[in-house]
Amino acid sequence: MEKLLEVRDLEVSFLTYGGEVQAVRGVSFDLHRGETLAIVGESGCGKSVTANSIMRLIPQPPGRITNGTIQFKHKELITLPENQMRKIRGVDISMIFQDPMTALNPTLTVGNQLAEGLKQHTSVSAKEAKQKAVELLDLVGIPNPEERLSLYPHQFSGGMRQRIVIAMALICEPELLIADEPTTALDVTIQAQILELFERIQEQTGVAIILITHDLGVVAKIADRIAVMYAGKIIEVGTKKEIFYHSQHPYTKGLLNSVPRLDRREGKLIPIDGTPPDLFSPPAGCPFTARCPKAMEVCDRVYPLETNLSSTHQVECWLQDERATKLLASK
Ligand code: SF4
Ligand code: MG
Repeated sequence: MEKLLEVRDLEVSFLTYGGEVQAVRGVSFDLHRGETLAIVGESGCGKSVTANSIMRLIPQPPGRITNGTIQFKHKELITLPENQMRKIRGVDISMIFQDPMTALNPTLTVGNQLAEGLKQHTSVSAKEAKQKAVELLDLVGIPNPEERLSLYPHQFSGGMRQRIVIAMALICEPELLIADEPTTALDVTIQAQILELFERIQEQTGVAIILITHDLGVVAKIADRIAVMYAGKIIEVGTKKEIFYHSQHPYTKGLLNSVPRLDRREGKLIPIDGTPPDLFSPPAGCPFTARCPKAMEVCDRVYPLETNLSSTHQVECWLQDERATKLLASK
C-alpha cells in the first residue's frame, strides 16, 4: 500500500504562564492510502495536538512545533507557506470535530453550506454545487437529500448534524479525513451508526482516516491499526488484532481492561489508578512508571527503547526489551 502520510519525531510545545508544556514528545507514524489508523489515549495525551499539527492548526503562539517532519504525499507540511497550506486544508485533508454545531453555521441552510465549501476551493457552477451537495447528503445517509437542502442545522437531530458535517468534510473529495472524537457527543446507538458510516464511506471513496478517540471500544470495529498515546508519546502501535489480543504495554492492557468488551464474558472493568505525569517537566524514564504494576528500577531512570514485536507491532516498554538488563547492570 502506498504511503500517504509520514510523521517523524514530531514535538509540539505550548508556552503557558506556568511554563512550557511538552504536549507531543517525539511522535512518529505512517498512514497508507485507504487505511484507518486510530490514535487512542486519555485526554491530554497529545492526540488532538498531533492531529491539529497535521492540519497546521496549532495556535502559534502559544503553540509551537519544535521538531519533526510531516510529509503528506511526500510534501513537507510543517514548513509549507500558509497560502499553500490553505489549498490542502479541506481539500486534500479534511477534519471533523466532536461537536457538529461548532462546524455548522446556524444562519445558513445546509445546502448553502455544502455548496460554499465546494465553491471556495473549486470553480463549479451553482447547479453543479447543488448536485454535489445532494450526492454527498445521500452518501452520508440523509433521506430525501434534495428536499433537505433548504433546511437549517437546528432542524436536524444531533446524529444527522454530524452526518452533515461529515458530508461537508468530504465534498472536495479529500484523500485524508481526520476525525477528532467524532462520536463522543452522540448517544451509543447513533455512535454505532456514524462508525458504520465511516466504514461505508471508506469503501466507496477510498479516503484514509485518522480516528482520534479516548475510547478503545469505538475503534474496535473500524480501525486497521491502533496507536496508543500516553504523555505525549506513542507507547504502542500495532494492527487491531495485535493491540486487542497481543498488547504488551501495561498501559494498553489497562485501557483494554477498562472498556466493555463483547468478546469477554467476565466483564469486570478495572480503571487505571493514578494520573498521567505533569508535562511541564516530563520524567526522564517511562512516563507510566508511577502507575505501572510492573515497574522496575530501570523504568524510572531511562526512557524505554522501541522494541519490534513484529513488522507492524512496536512497543516502548522495558519488559519487552532485553537491553533493560544491560542498563540495570550498568547502573
Ligand atoms: Fe511499566 Fe516499566 Fe514498561 Fe513503563 S517501561 S510500562 S514502567 S514496565
Ligand atoms: Mg482532544
